[in-house]
Amino acid sequence: MKPSIEDFTQDELKDIIKPSFRVKQIYNWIYHKYVDSFDDMKNLPKAMKEDLKSRYSINPLEQILVQDSSDGSRKYLFRLHDGHTVEAVLLLMKKERFHEDGGVKHQAKYTVCISSQVGCKVGCAFCLTAKGGFIRNLSAGEIVSQILMIKKDNSIDANRKLNIVYMGMGEPLDNFDNMVKSIKIFSDSDGMDISPHRQTISTSGLSSKIARLGKLDLGINLAISLHAVDDELRERLMPINKAYNIQSIIDVVKEFPINSRKRVMFEYLVMKDLNDDLASAKKLLKILDGIKAKVNLIYFNPYENTEFKRPSKTDMDKFQEYLTSRGLHCTIRESKGLDISAACGQLREQNK
Ligand code: SAH
Ligand code: SF4
Repeated sequence: MKPSIEDFTQDELKDIIKPSFRVKQIYNWIYHKYVDSFDDMKNLPKAMKEDLKSRYSINPLEQILVQDSSDGSRKYLFRLHDGHTVEAVLLLMKKERFHEDGGVKHQAKYTVCISSQVGCKVGCAFCLTAKGGFIRNLSAGEIVSQILMIKKDNSIDANRKLNIVYMGMGEPLDNFDNMVKSIKIFSDSDGMDISPHRQTISTSGLSSKIARLGKLDLGINLAISLHAVDDELRERLMPINKAYNIQSIIDVVKEFPINSRKRVMFEYLVMKDLNDDLASAKKLLKILDGIKAKVNLIYFNPYENTEFKRPSKTDMDKFQEYLTSRGLHCTIRESKGLDISAACGQLREQNK
């Protein structure tokens, strides 16, 4: 199997493709013009096109399904070369608004949620992705191409900025090198030019790898999937807590380099009668004391044969109110795309 051209940073390609000024042209064809054949790279010499074709594939994903939600989000299912599938979601954060004369007043704002692995090793009890076990890591190119495919499919201009969240299938820190490489490829100013400040890594809390990521000082945002405020419940929900408990996560987060205008996000998946009470909210406040944090409450999205339940709106609002009234930034994740089975793993599950 040939590697795909999207697996490489510009620096890596410059080491293998000579003369190296051609690399910028190749990047331009892929990331600005969205071509998916080396033959279409018109300003490259014929011999170089043939050589590239013999050594690399281009665009490693095949789009096999798109589902639209009433709120404007679109969920994608992509097939990989070996037949496995992964999901990504385009979230419309703000709709395009027009002046009376038809000119664009505000451009639409997009966030794309991408996958980093097929399946996941972490095995959280509430997560559908975990059910099928771990299959394999995505290559950097397979991560990068999710954004590329979605931009192309929605005719999103190459220069338009969008936000990226690594919150799809898989644990990004378990695919460390490819994930870091994808961050660099996204942020290349000759490519998609999506600054690390627009990229958020969501992790189940692999403390040692969070520390390693922090040392790289890439400028990315961090989101921690906390979901529980005591180790006993967290262990039940997330077996990874046996290796990295809540305190170990808090300790590394305190050392993580965060942009002074940003906050570390703590995701808290709310499940009825489990972690939706005010005693939990109180404990959460205490745990996050001293951290520039924001909390994102997520409604558990039920699926067939799960023991967990969606919380009531009243309990969710009370939980939020408890935290915000005490000065903690706290939002409730709008269940964008709920009608297209928003939680990752669900589209794939339905299409097996
Ligand atoms: N593995 C990383 C990256 C994203 S996991 C992590 O755990 O942070 C995907 C996200 O979907 C997590 O925030 C997880 O809490 C959430 N999720 C999983 N199952 C869900 C469900 N049934 N309903 C709502 N959110 C869910
Ligand atoms: Fe993996 Fe995240 Fe799902 Fe846990 S919630 S099993 S870490 S994808």
